[in-house]
Amino acid sequence: MKTIKRIGVLTSGGDAPGMNAAVRAVTRLALYKGVEVMGIYNGYQGLIDDNIKELHERDVSFIINRGGTMLYTARCDEFREASGIKKAVDTCSRHGIEGIVTIGGDGTFRGAVDLTDAGVPCIGIPGTIDNDIASTEMTIGFDTAMNTVVELIDKLRDTSESHARCTVVEVMGRDAGDIALQTSIAVGAVTAVIKEIPTDFDHVIDKMVEARKNGKRNFIIVAAEGMGHDYGEELSKMIEKRSGIETRFARLAHIQRGGSPTLRDRVLATQMGCAAVENLVEGQMKQVMCLRGNNIVAMDIYDALTVDKLMKGKLSPDEEDRIPPNKLYEMKRIVADKQAYKKYLNYIIDHITL
Ligand code: ATP
Repeated sequence: MKTIKRIGVLTSGGDAPGMNAAVRAVTRLALYKGVEVMGIYNGYQGLIDDNIKELHERDVSFIINRGGTMLYTARCDEFREASGIKKAVDTCSRHGIEGIVTIGGDGTFRGAVDLTDAGVPCIGIPGTIDNDIASTEMTIGFDTAMNTVVELIDKLRDTSESHARCTVVEVMGRDAGDIALQTSIAVGAVTAVIKEIPTDFDHVIDKMVEARKNGKRNFIIVAAEGMGHDYGEELSKMIEKRSGIETRFARLAHIQRGGSPTLRDRVLATQMGCAAVENLVEGQMKQVMCLRGNNIVAMDIYDALTVDKLMKGKLSPDEEDRIPPNKLYEMKRIVADKQAYKKYLNYIIDHITL
């Protein structure tokens, strides 16, 4: 087996707290194993622009506690073209980069597949606050974002209580309502409005009116960003009109992305960073690191992207027919588990919040 002498590491797509912890783990473990590490700046754009610098142990000091990403990130459209991939491959060969750990979301993984196919083996680490990578139970940044959301909604709830109002809060999550669901439980929201599960607003309004009669002053409704840009404001108007309870709208927006990562995200990022390096130096490639139970397991990157499509209902019947039945069964099981968990969380919200 050919031993890898030098790898690259990059962060791409939306930033997420904990990306730095992953970069640190990748760098430190690779160096420990005698593999040199090149930091690629601005995501795939850094491979096009040759924005690359060698990383030593101390270059990743004191970043485990920092939000954002020290390697920065960018959306790079040129990388979607064959000419962009060629430039990236040329840059890697000039720097002697034999494999890359790519930290980001599903778009980043699609880029990693293209780069692997062009001759530079890649391994993906899921870093995105939305938790919208179906193959892993948790993505890096999700826990921190949720804790930030809880802190902010607790504050909104104080003022809602003082003024006897309802507040509709929009939280992040374009394709997945995970942030909305879990934070709804944590802040005692009346309901979570997400794309994946329809909301029975007649029931919600009845619940609110009844609770108001019994003395409840504040109401929080959490809506996921994926419901649409104007959805939260429209929903606020509808709730106020139908319940007679004064209702305000608040969008938490990008504040959810920043801040120091939680312990959970630091540990997850460190475990995934180490596992990625172990696998890359063993000659594995085209994998995504996934959390299942307490373990980090590797999943083929194509399979991970297919599970995402299944989850989002975007897998065509033709594509489905081409998957071997045993593999399809496993993929459907992963998706069914996630969907069942969301339904369960939704059930809890509906039954224990007034
Ligand atoms: P997030 O979920 O936080 O938005 P992401 O990784 O999905 O993260 P994207 O902007 O979709 O974010 O992708 C990041 C980068 O990956 C893109 O700017 C582009 O350079 C590359 N990329 C995305 N899709 C593809 C694709 N289909 N083929 C090649 N490269 C891609």
